[in-house]
Amino acid sequence: MKIAVIGSGYVGLVAGVCFADAGNDVVCVDTDAGKVERMRAGEVPIYEPGLGDLMHRAIREKRLVFTTVHAEAVRGAAAVFIAVGTPEGPTGEPDMRYVDAAVRDVAKAITGPAIVVLKSTVPVGTAKRVRALLAASLHPVAVVNNPEFLKEGAAVEDFLRPDRVVVGTDDDAAFDTMKRLYEPFVRTGKPVLRMSNAAAELTKYASNAMLATRVSFMNEVARLCDAVGADVEDVRRGMGTDARIGPAFLFPGCGYGGSCFPKDTQGLIHVGKSFGVPMNIAKAVEAVNDDQKQLLVERVKARFGANLKGRRFALWGLAFKPRTDDVREAPAIVIADGLLAAGAHVVGTDPEAIPTMRAVLKDRITYVQDPYDAVKGADALIVCTEWNEYRGADLERIRAALVQPVVFDGRNVFEPARMRALGFEYQGIGRGGKA
Ligand code: NAD
Repeated sequence: MKIAVIGSGYVGLVAGVCFADAGNDVVCVDTDAGKVERMRAGEVPIYEPGLGDLMHRAIREKRLVFTTVHAEAVRGAAAVFIAVGTPEGPTGEPDMRYVDAAVRDVAKAITGPAIVVLKSTVPVGTAKRVRALLAASLHPVAVVNNPEFLKEGAAVEDFLRPDRVVVGTDDDAAFDTMKRLYEPFVRTGKPVLRMSNAAAELTKYASNAMLATRVSFMNEVARLCDAVGADVEDVRRGMGTDARIGPAFLFPGCGYGGSCFPKDTQGLIHVGKSFGVPMNIAKAVEAVNDDQKQLLVERVKARFGANLKGRRFALWGLAFKPRTDDVREAPAIVIADGLLAAGAHVVGTDPEAIPTMRAVLKDRITYVQDPYDAVKGADALIVCTEWNEYRGADLERIRAALVQPVVFDGRNVFEPARMRALGFEYQGIGRGGKA
């Protein structure tokens, strides 16, 4: 099948590569000419495990090409996927300008009956609006919602083996095409769920807001654990083994970030507002998360004083989560900002996200590739991202490098008892008090 994918970001590129891997002919379009040039040369523009191998094979076998020209991609395509960004606007509602621009470009390029698939996360009512925008086209166009549930850091794996595929459409033929496209990925019996466009739009927001709810809930429970002297790890295991609750997304930390949870929780709040249904839980989830991102700064100040002039802190982990270079809404940004505002010097390190964080924080912090260089001469180590390599770090080397053996572990990567035995002053999140 010939497929066009508009937007080659974390979602569009992964979708394009995986559809090509399944034998389709895919044309990926992006307005960023530099990025298209790099992808044509075989460069993978994002860090995503496994993506490079599949991308290179698909390019080599001529099933995947890149262009900046929408018409080249859309001409003759059985399905046109729109996977451009829908970032959070200034008042919390999704900024739809990229989707609208892409739809306008697609409308001009359509040369026959087509299926336009909204893969971007879009507010309820978008399919209806897009259908109206495309109504002027001379050809019949079905508008389908196919929200994406992949996780950055495991995007390829998630795309190739989804838990479910959601297809929102009232068009039988469009549904059949979507089912055929996804067949190679759901052969283990995972469902392709057909529903209305509005239900599909809402499913995506509600899913992310639900996951964010679990995280914020556990962050509050962790604060309570610190207050009562209980270990949140015990509480988490005690809760997560209940089959009705399940173990996923019960890990407390220094706040969630990324391009999805904050934006989509805000998106749900906004959809509720536009339909007159207050989303009070989602509002609380966001408020708790905003506070949680400040927690480590508060703790550093409680330990070292409100004025951090002359102090130096090592930040381990800049990405919003491990196995990605994405720093959008990363807690590390809030923590670095808070420490800088109090006069501290911050040294950041990350296996993948130094270039992306440099674009955000510029030279306001120092960047080092080696985590042990980051702790050299620092007053404390602050862990913001649970990269696997940090779990097995040489703790004695860290202690020797720090000016004071103080560790604020925002992701609970270390064991409190071991840290204490090694002479660290250790604070995890909800690990049974501050000792
Ligand atoms: P991204 O910002 O990484 O990529 C978007 C790409 O679209 C960019 O390369 C940009 O240059 C390009 N673009 C913008 N306007 C264009 C146009 N008119 N024509 C062609 N290209 C255009 O975004 P992303 O993280 O891939 O997210 C895309 C959508 O998928 C969003 O709605 C997001 O909420 C959703 N989503 C993201 C994730 C994730 O983990 N990143 C997961 C599920 C869903």
